[in-house]
Amino acid sequence: MGFQEDKARQAKRTAKMLRRIQVPAAKINKIKIDASAGNLTTSADWARARRDINAAYKEMDKIFELYSDVTIPDSYKIKVKFEIKKMKKIKIADIKKRVPNIVLNSNFHKGAIKALTDDTILIYSTAVSEGKKMTAGLLRRTQQTIVTEQKLNLAIAQGLSEKGTIQETKNKILIELKKELNEPYILKAGSKRYRANTYAELVARTRTREAQSVGTLNVAANVQSDLVAVDSHNTITPICIPFEGRIFSISGTDKDFPPLSDEPPFHPNCLHNITVTFREVLEQRGIDPYIEFANGKTEIHPTRTAHIPVSKRNIA
Ligand SMILES: [Zn+2]
Repeated sequence: MGFQEDKARQAKRTAKMLRRIQVPAAKINKIKIDASAGNLTTSADWARARRDINAAYKEMDKIFELYSDVTIPDSYKIKVKFEIKKMKKIKIADIKKRVPNIVLNSNFHKGAIKALTDDTILIYSTAVSEGKKMTAGLLRRTQQTIVTEQKLNLAIAQGLSEKGTIQETKNKILIELKKELNEPYILKAGSKRYRANTYAELVARTRTREAQSVGTLNVAANVQSDLVAVDSHNTITPICIPFEGRIFSISGTDKDFPPLSDEPPFHPNCLHNITVTFREVLEQRGIDPYIEFANGKTEIHPTRTAHIPVSKRNIA
């Protein structure tokens, strides 16, 4: 299977996961809206709402876990196979000797894949668990406010209390709570709130790229090359500019190329990629322009004619 087919298959799988996650997300939002509309009255209603919300969050977590279990290993393997295919075209005897011994089910790759997958699942499930706490808290506060409100109204009706500032305060609180209940943000990461599928998409995109980068770095270790090249699409993202199109030293000990201080994705939704590069190949082509470009001594890329000098791009 080719690289494009692999990518299409992954995109399809992601789309399916996002559709599936919308089902429990819609359940949670419906319960929140019900609470806001005053449809939850008895304590049994509230108890059922809490139970249904817990189940929906659990379901969401499970969907993302099943997706990650397949997609993260797949991303890693697709990238490794792509690197091998590229390396096999190199006609330098010494490199040819180093290339063929990459076994994807070796403990080295298996360990890396497992760590990447576990990490990805943890990132989403942390947002799920924080989101669940946030929603549960919101419901609890709403229920309490409504109950207090009902007691106050009863007291006023019976002439036991006067309509006053306490009730006005309660009303204000309830209006705020209702506003929050009607918002579709049910996940939380750090101080940010997210829609369930927005966050799932962000994590999926970032983590599949992370898996690809780790795959490349591990291939580089396998074939004993210390150099990787970052690809170029004439980015205008400031954080990516110092990396784009340049060659870096993974160990940071190369005498000519700067250390790889970070690897893609450099930011969420970053589209940059790294590829294994060999000094022997660069030497064959003439290594000096690559060194000059990697060290910022020239804006002219050694091979890419489509590369627009940074100073000529429209950067906000
Ligand atoms: Zn980027």
